Amino acid sequence: MPAVVNESGKSRFDATTERQRLLRVCYRFTGNVTVAEDLAQEAILIGLRRASREGAPPREWSSYLFGVARRLCAGWQAKRGKDESNFVSLDDDAREPSMSPDISAPDPLESLLLGERERLIERALFALKDPVRQLLLARYVEDLPVREIGERWGISENAATVRIHRGRDALRKVLETTLRAEASAHGLLSAEAAQGWRETTLFCCRCGRERLQGRFVAADPGAGQDADFMLRCPACPGMLDGMTSNAAPMDAASVLTGVQGFRAGLNRVNRWWQEYLADALETRATLCPRCGHVAQAMISDAPESPGMGVGCPKCNAITFYIHPTGLLYHSEQAQAFWRRFPRVRNQAARNIVCEGRPAILTAFADRATAARIEMVFDLETLRCLRVDMTK
Ligand SMILES: [Zn+2]
Ligand SMILES: [Zn+2]
Repeated sequence: MPAVVNESGKSRFDATTERQRLLRVCYRFTGNVTVAEDLAQEAILIGLRRASREGAPPREWSSYLFGVARRLCAGWQAKRGKDESNFVSLDDDAREPSMSPDISAPDPLESLLLGERERLIERALFALKDPVRQLLLARYVEDLPVREIGERWGISENAATVRIHRGRDALRKVLETTLRAEASAHGLLSAEAAQGWRETTLFCCRCGRERLQGRFVAADPGAGQDADFMLRCPACPGMLDGMTSNAAPMDAASVLTGVQGFRAGLNRVNRWWQEYLADALETRATLCPRCGHVAQAMISDAPESPGMGVGCPKCNAITFYIHPTGLLYHSEQAQAFWRRFPRVRNQAARNIVCEGRPAILTAFADRATAARIEMVFDLETLRCLRVDMTK
């Protein structure tokens, strides 16, 4: 069988073709289907390991793997020859098998799908850098126990577990981003991931513990797709409107133009919400975030439920509500603080008196240090009376 050759003339690895070919080679040498399957698999693993070690596959996959398979078969026969008298000659071409059905006639669609899925995972693996790739190959291709991987890398079993876990995250990230469409088509992604949800590098600023999950779809006017940006915490309840582009009056496509990445997207989306909130607080006339109709901004100065709500006559409902802690979150100062201290968490707000007026004190605190940002709002107007930052 000819090597699979791509446009550049270099041989390209094709797991399905190679496995079929190696199975035939190994079966011819061993006369045993089970052994042939084991040895063919082993040959492919050795090839993958070498490709991983050298950062690129051998130039001639097919002949390289043929050589590996021959050596393995010879080794098996030598061992078996000592064990038993019954062995098959290496040169016995007359024993070219009438292949058993499970080798010669696999379901073509299934084998195609399996082959493509393997190729996809291989592509994802090759997109990773060492030593992550090596680690994953050792665990999932070589099928080494974690303890042995620890020994090989000179680290504890726990450390190996952690590294493998991180490696799987990295692999998943490749599948969820650069290879998303294909990975989704092969059922390698969860329904959530297929919709574009993935883990971001941003920590939630409510709990300061979990990484935010994000979904960021660029605008595609041709397909009638508007830009769509959302962040959420897997642990904290609800989704904050202010972390999404889901507001009827927002022109998400222009807000997010040219943006790549969740941090930059969040900055843009936040700037829009800053203006929206400032304008609503200033004029009390605003647009309903749900339907875009003219609506009324109302401030509640009840100490137990302070904040601003938007009442929409068309929706006949309060369609938006923000607590003073939300106003702190949207402020430039708090955003800068969050960028500087990635693991902040919000603190319970306190009713206080400031400048002789009823006020509310809101705060974010860094989980790792004593750093803290506080903002005091006038309860009646929600104007910021004071900002304090301690580092
Ligand atoms: Zn959270
Ligand atoms: Zn409305």
